[in-house]
This record gives sequence, structure tokens and C-alpha cells, in this order.
Amino acid sequence: MLDDPKTDLDSQLSDPELFSNTGDFAGDGRLAVRDPATGDIVAKVTMSDATGARAAVDAAQAGFAGWSGMLPQDRAAILHRWHDLIIAAKEDLARIMVAEQGKPISEARGEIDYAASFVQFYAEEALRPNIEGVTSHLPDAEMELWREPVGVAALITPWNFPCAMITRKAAAALGAGCTVVVHPSAETPLSALALGVLARRAGFPDGVYNTVIGDAATIVGEWTADKRVRALSFTGSTEVGRLLYRQSADTVKRLVMELGGHAPFIVFQRADLDRAVAEGIKAKFATSGQDCLGANRFYIHREIYDEFCARFTKAVEALSLGRGMEDPDIGPLIHDRQIEKQKAHVQNAVDKGARLLTGGAVDEGLGPLFFRPTVLADVPDDAAIMREETFGPVAALTPFDSEEEVYARANDSEYGLVAYVHSLDPRRIYRATRALQYGMVAVNRTKVTGAPIPFGGMKQSGIGREGARQGLEAFTEIKYVCRDWG
Ligand code: NAD
Repeated sequence: MLDDPKTDLDSQLSDPELFSNTGDFAGDGRLAVRDPATGDIVAKVTMSDATGARAAVDAAQAGFAGWSGMLPQDRAAILHRWHDLIIAAKEDLARIMVAEQGKPISEARGEIDYAASFVQFYAEEALRPNIEGVTSHLPDAEMELWREPVGVAALITPWNFPCAMITRKAAAALGAGCTVVVHPSAETPLSALALGVLARRAGFPDGVYNTVIGDAATIVGEWTADKRVRALSFTGSTEVGRLLYRQSADTVKRLVMELGGHAPFIVFQRADLDRAVAEGIKAKFATSGQDCLGANRFYIHREIYDEFCARFTKAVEALSLGRGMEDPDIGPLIHDRQIEKQKAHVQNAVDKGARLLTGGAVDEGLGPLFFRPTVLADVPDDAAIMREETFGPVAALTPFDSEEEVYARANDSEYGLVAYVHSLDPRRIYRATRALQYGMVAVNRTKVTGAPIPFGGMKQSGIGREGARQGLEAFTEIKYVCRDWG
């Protein structure tokens, strides 16, 4: 079935049909998908082009009236079926993800659960009231707000969470009654294609769910220019987000932008240090550091700084690095640009006076995309790693002396996605939570996300929220209705 695969992934799957090599609007081109652990080609996927991108919108537009007009419980039933099929295919989806993305298999399984949870959440949300009453300010008038689906929604997703970033968008859009065109990252199309196969089996009517693989600028460029695409939901870098924001201006689309992060991780002097170290490891090294929620800057109070540095470094040295199917703590990075960025950030920090406590280089024995987990101490604020998203397994530590100082340094960033705070002092926690300009503040823990919470950032980390009731907003319009009975 697959064009020129160099691995036998399909023979390892219980449902080989999930290992699909073509989207819904295939053209002539081929896209090689590589296993980052080995460099081997996993598959060559058939690409679409501008014509295919337009055809996908034609289909989605044609499918919109039927889908949005369907009774909510019928739409919900299809979403529930999709959820159940995703869960039933967890092991296959996780293996596909490891093959193209490289993450440890247990993280991949966890991502499938997380991905499915959005589908279940929005299947249920589809049944909740979509009409709200308004207390009338006019005589004899009755007022209501109706929430209606906007129409066709374009969903553009990154490679670091190849399944969850799709379902987080698609489930909300579909639950709201929109039809979708999905464009996944060129690094991880196979997970997106597998989700598309399951969507078809779940019974979404024709045109409701469309996957388009191809050159990003061409495909997404067609969609941003197309006035029939009423909403665009993007997860990816701030740089590409800015571009799509500009491109969407001419057709005044509704936007969701989930962009870069550069999380501060603050440990105050009265904190549970064991816990701060353990949570810091998770906050930095999950998804091999390639996570928008990844802690980039560790601000540690000077009284506990040396002890934290020692304990954190010891914990980092105990982390295993390896191929995803061996289920290590850390897998390979996605491509060599990521490796170059780690090297550049480490070198730049050291040149500016930082101390390299552990790591700092590629593990050549494992392969060119395996970067050793790294800790830098005494990193100055003007080092690149303190200004830019590193998106890899390099932790930058620095001491601080006062609350005011650490809030100012933590907020001195164009990003505002998530901030982590460790303290056992309730008043300090309150002040920190108030002071930090971040869309999410995590206190004494790392994992804070889930389908029922509104995920998103402030400043240039994004626009809008995904998950929760708020995740429906970009995919719905409010229609105000005023009826006069006088
Ligand atoms: P990216 O911006 O390079 O790509 C994201 C998507 O945009 C991909 O589908 C890609 O095909 C498409 N794209 C790339 N160039 C384009 C162009 N010129 N025109 C149209 N589309 C284009 O990001 P990435 O490297 O895939 O992902 C990493 C980034 O994503 C990081 O910055 C990370 O912080 C961010 N991210 C954010 C969240 C969040 O929820 N805030 C979640 C995951 C990742």
C-alpha cells in the first residue's frame, strides 16, 4: 500500500489500514517521512497541491449545511464513535507516532488518551444549550443570543503533538457544527492520516472532515485567501502565526493562535525542593523538551540555588536517552534544525559566562538527532536561551534575590503561555499568580492541561483558547435575536 517504505511499520500494526499514505485530495508529489531515531524513510506520502486545497474547501463547504443542520445528538454520536475508535487503536496510533515523531512510546500512548479526551469532551459539549436569554432593556421585546457554527474551519497543526493538536481543534469545530480542512506538519502526516481513516469509519458524512497533506505555504495560502474559510485555528511557531494572522486579514477570519512558549520556572526559598526538582524535570524534558509548555528559564532563589543546581543536575544525569520504542525518558529531536538550535543556545550561554553542569552535546553513539539532556547554571539574562524558545532538552538556571525582581525578569518576554511557581507560602503564591503575565499559572505541579480547561497564552503566545467551553468560541458566531410582542 505504501510507496517505497524503508521500514515495516505496517506489519507491526494490528490494523495496517491506519498506515495510510494519502490524504483526501492527493496530487502528484511525494513527501518522505523519516524516523528521527534512525533517519530511515518510514513512508512516502502522496501530497496535494493548490487545486487539492481548493477542492477540500469545496467539499467542506458542500458538507456544511448537512452537518450543521444535523441534530446535536446525532453529531455527538459520531464524535463518540470517533473517540472510541481512537482509544481502540491506541497502540497502533502510538507506534505510528513514535515512527515519525520519535517520542517515547509511553508518552505517545498518553498523547492518544489526551487526544481522545477532546473528542469525548466536545461530543458532550455539543449537547449543551446554545441559546442564551438576555434581560430585555426594551418594552415588549424578548431577546436571545444564538450560537451558530461559522462554516468551514481550517486547522493547521505542528509535529510535536501529532494527534492531540488535531483533535483539540477538530473536536471543538465539529462539535460546534463546523466542517474542517486539516493540514498537519510535513514531519508528522502519518498520525493525521490515521486519524482521518478513523474519522471516516466513525461516520462523518462526506466533506465534513478533510485531511490535506502538502507544501504548507501552498495549502494554507489557499485557505487564508479563501473567503469561504471562516475560521483558522493554528498551532505552531509565533513566526508562522504572525504570517497567517496577516494573511487572514483580507478575509477577516476568526482566529485561534496557539503559538510559542518560553516558560519561566520559579522556585522560592520556602518550597518542597524534592518536588520542585521532580516537577522541573517533567516541565523541561517531557516530549524531549519539544513542548510549547517546556520550562526554558529556571529562576531559583539564591538561598537554595546551589542545592537546587546540584539536585537537578543529578536528576538530569539519571535520565535515559534512546529510541522511542525502548521507552526512554528522552527520545531524538525531530530534525537537525532543532539540534543546531540546542548547540547554538548552549554555546551562546557559555560564551556569556554560563557554566555547563551536564550534557551539552549530541550523543553520537545513538545518532545525530539525540541531544544529551543539558543543564546550564548562572545563565545571564541576555543569553539567547533566556530570550528565545529553545524547544529542546536544555535547562537554563539562574539565581534571583527578590520577588519583584523575579516577576520582572519572568515577564520580560514576548511570550506568555505558561509559568511554573514552586512555593509553600500561600501569600507569595497569590502574589506570584497575580504578577505573572501568563495564560496559565501552574503552582507546585507541572501537568495542568486537559480537555475541560481553556488552554492558551497571553501576548505573542497566542489568541483565543482551546479546550473547555471557551474552545468553541472561534468556531461559533453569536446571533442576537430581538422579537417584539407589543
Ligand atoms: P511551525 O510554525 O513551523 O509549523 C506549524 C504548522 O504550520 C505546520 O503545519 C506547518 O506545516 C505550517 N506552516 C509552516 N510554515 C508555513 C507557512 N509559511 N505558511 C503556512 N503554514 C505553514 O511550528 P512547528 O515547528 O511545527 O511546531 C513547533 C512550534 O509550535 C513551537 O513554537 C511551539 O511552541 C508551538 N506549539 C504551540 C502549542 C500551543 O498550544 N501554544 C502547542 C504545540 C506547539
